[in-house]
Amino acid sequence: MSTTLPRPTKLDPLDMLDLDADFTSDERLIRDTVRDFTRRRILPNIADWFERGVFPKELALELGELGLLGMHLDGYGCAGTSGTAYGIACRELEAADSGLRSFVSVQGSLAMFPIHAYGSEEQKREWLPRMARGEAIGCFGLTEYDHGSDPSGMRTVARRDGGDYVLDGSKAWITNGGVADVAVVWARTNPDDGPKSGAVRGFVVPAGTKGFSTKNIERKISLRASVTSELLFENCRVPASAILPGVASMRGPLSCLSEARYGILWGALGAARACYEAALEYAKTRVQFDKPIASFQLTQQKLVDMMLELQKGQLLATAIGRLKDAGTIAPQHVSMGKLNNVREALAICREARTILGASGITLEYPVIRHMNNLESVLTYEGTSEVHTLILGQALTGIGAFS
Ligand SMILES: Cc1cc2nc3c(=O)[nH]c(=O)nc-3n(C[C@H](O)[C@H](O)[C@H](O)COP(=O)(O)OP(=O)(O)OC[C@H]3O[C@@H](n4cnc5c(N)ncnc54)[C@H](O)[C@@H]3O)c2cc1C
Repeated sequence: MSTTLPRPTKLDPLDMLDLDADFTSDERLIRDTVRDFTRRRILPNIADWFERGVFPKELALELGELGLLGMHLDGYGCAGTSGTAYGIACRELEAADSGLRSFVSVQGSLAMFPIHAYGSEEQKREWLPRMARGEAIGCFGLTEYDHGSDPSGMRTVARRDGGDYVLDGSKAWITNGGVADVAVVWARTNPDDGPKSGAVRGFVVPAGTKGFSTKNIERKISLRASVTSELLFENCRVPASAILPGVASMRGPLSCLSEARYGILWGALGAARACYEAALEYAKTRVQFDKPIASFQLTQQKLVDMMLELQKGQLLATAIGRLKDAGTIAPQHVSMGKLNNVREALAICREARTILGASGITLEYPVIRHMNNLESVLTYEGTSEVHTLILGQALTGIGAFS
């Protein structure tokens, strides 16, 4: 019997278990391409964009050129990658900034996905190829000021009038709203308007439609490099062909949210990795009491705990990605990933901030930017509390929402 001695392994502090080695060569290529793009194009500028509160609209074309918009959808100019590849791209985009990943998530998962899944052939042909190229920007209007975690109580209505629908109401906190060329808007139809009426329906509303306007939400201190807006509908008349024919219930918007949350559970790992990496480098070079602060046991414990949570989060993301690719994913799996990975990513960013001391509160380092961004990520696409209740219901069979 021969014994094989273990080969010495070179440990990478950013991926101790070499988890990325499990990705396919295509997935690794996507990782490297997105990482290279963010290093060249985003990282040198992002602190400035964040400080000024802008998202340069021309990035849409560059993201389209890279094939990242609607990348996990098939046909109509979309790349048709695996769900895992989409997750990896989200991770690398969010390692640069959550605002950048939000742009790609909203475009692909919240605006293109409903048109792809529930749209008419004309709607698909009209919008998807342009949106995949980044020539048309989309947004997704579900939340209202009075209806956030419980969007089914929405007040925005769509009234049938001859061959048209007339939209009235408003949406709040809508990513990309003020820069969008097209909005996918969810509204309750009038119960007296015939078959399927009274249900929540999706409408594809181009910017510039009479009665549709937007107003940006200013003075945010989170996700500053991302446009967040109100959508206002006042006697806004759209043809019946603007309705998404394939769904007539809250299943429509909720299925879109499940797609976008899936990207978030990967993306949060990118933000956390960037903070861990910054803290690790800083700790090795910052000297106090005549020693690098990395030599102190308390600092090492912080770094080790960050690394452990990052690797566990990656294992979770990869497992959920493989379920998605196998077609066996359930919304509860996505809740597991979103709840755990965003919560732990935020904890990692906060701990990294302490290692950087006073330097950690400036935009010279990425840490406080990521930390502030993740406060939004914790809330949107289902708050931590909502995902906890979804999982609580899955475990006990008892809904505790109301
Ligand atoms: C930067 C940003 C971008 C966004 N982009 C979009 C977008 O593109 N499109 C869109 O439609 N929406 C968007 N949103 C809205 C987002 O989805 C909502 O903010 C989110 O659903 C929470 O709603 P709310 O803010 O009204 O909080 P609320 O629902 O009022 O919740 C407040 C608190 O109460 C808790 N809570 C509520 N219900 C329960 C319950 N049953 N049990 C226990 N706790 C509960 C919540 O967890 C939370 O802690 C965005 C939000 C932000 C901040």
